[in-house]
Amino acid sequence: MGLYKNIGDGKSTFVWRDPWIPGVHAGGLNPLNDVAVNYVRVCDLFNEEGRCWNRQTLDEVFDRSTVEKILCIPLNRVQQPDRWSWKGEADGTFSVKSCYKLAMKECWENSDLTPDHFCEVPTAFWKSVWKLPILSRYKVLFWRAYIGVIPTIEALGKRGIHIDEPCVFCGVEQENVYHTLIECNTLQQFWQEAKFDFSSWSYHQSLLEWMSVEWSSWVREQRRFFIMALYFIWDTRNRCKFANEPINLNGLWVRVERQWDELCVASNGAVMDVVVPASLRWEKPATDFMKMNVDAALKNTGEGALGGVLRDCEGMVHGVFMVSTPVLNDTILLEAMAVKKGVEFVRDAGVAKVIVECDSRLVVDMLNAGCNHSSLLSSVCTSILHMCNGFDDISFRWIPRTSNQCANRLSKAARDVIGEMIWRESMPICISELCIDDLHQ
Ligand SMILES: [Zn+2]
Repeated sequence: MGLYKNIGDGKSTFVWRDPWIPGVHAGGLNPLNDVAVNYVRVCDLFNEEGRCWNRQTLDEVFDRSTVEKILCIPLNRVQQPDRWSWKGEADGTFSVKSCYKLAMKECWENSDLTPDHFCEVPTAFWKSVWKLPILSRYKVLFWRAYIGVIPTIEALGKRGIHIDEPCVFCGVEQENVYHTLIECNTLQQFWQEAKFDFSSWSYHQSLLEWMSVEWSSWVREQRRFFIMALYFIWDTRNRCKFANEPINLNGLWVRVERQWDELCVASNGAVMDVVVPASLRWEKPATDFMKMNVDAALKNTGEGALGGVLRDCEGMVHGVFMVSTPVLNDTILLEAMAVKKGVEFVRDAGVAKVIVECDSRLVVDMLNAGCNHSSLLSSVCTSILHMCNGFDDISFRWIPRTSNQCANRLSKAARDVIGEMIWRESMPICISELCIDDLHQ
């Protein structure tokens, strides 16, 4: 994965040249027809107010799967310029490695890096590590890896405990800190998929050396992601070695980003007043209010399936949706997409006062805390909050799954849906019994 354009006002991103669609690399997009080439910059694909995608244009210009991916990109930064946000191995136009080599050559030639330099841990470095707002278990592991005292096969060997086992990931190389956490072949895809550029590892021999040279040039977020990533890699190694779990590095970045989301939410003070529902059943909203229940499920293909039902204070159904999404590999992100779809549905139905319920605590906390950090989950939540201005009263509430059975059933049924199905003033048979059940409370 290379550099990646994060869409703001869409003015400096070129439709056919830049990498801006999730999962589509630079130059990987081909115009469907002659009309398509007229759309030069991404802002040409916005509607007139520039606040959302022009669906008609998208359908004219791209094939279906591309349109679906584009629709997943929230346009909540239209006041800001586009920015590059994903770095990594790049293609053709820009090479991180070649730039880095040039820069490092100068750096190494001009500095006197004696071994002593690496043996003492600079205080400023440690201060910057300990100040990072992440759990201390991550920092402790990082510190131990940095000074080489995590029990790798090599480290144990130095203490006279000789074990004849190779690296658990590749099964070939000798296991030492740098190999097992960073340079093992098996980990390369993981590092390349990172949100930040970690490719400079290849110019160093040890974590100590790499950090001594690179750490100061990393922004706080990159440091935080790095430390958490090392923790999860070491955790994966241990699960494999001691619990015989299969190696699964997929989804590690999602875990890292999710931890970060949780910390941001906690530091915004959201987790304070959890209103525990009085019963484990669905509750009717107050008079004048409507209630939208949403949920998400996964299809076998990895695509997402979203469902939602809108009911009034009598429990009467006013509308239902089932929608499928592209592969996102992230169930909590899907929950947020379900909330977003639900809010859009309610808005389009002209409802002024609504309670939106879902069973993902993190999504609800994030919406109530108004978090605005740069994770994908946070940007979807921010786009939901932008839509809230059009309502007289809208609130987000967490409920346990048992109180969300209709929406749960709908999201499961949506696994058979391609595209979108909408019911207004009626409902699909699969939830009719559950809706009646919900009324007998
Ligand atoms: Zn290995």
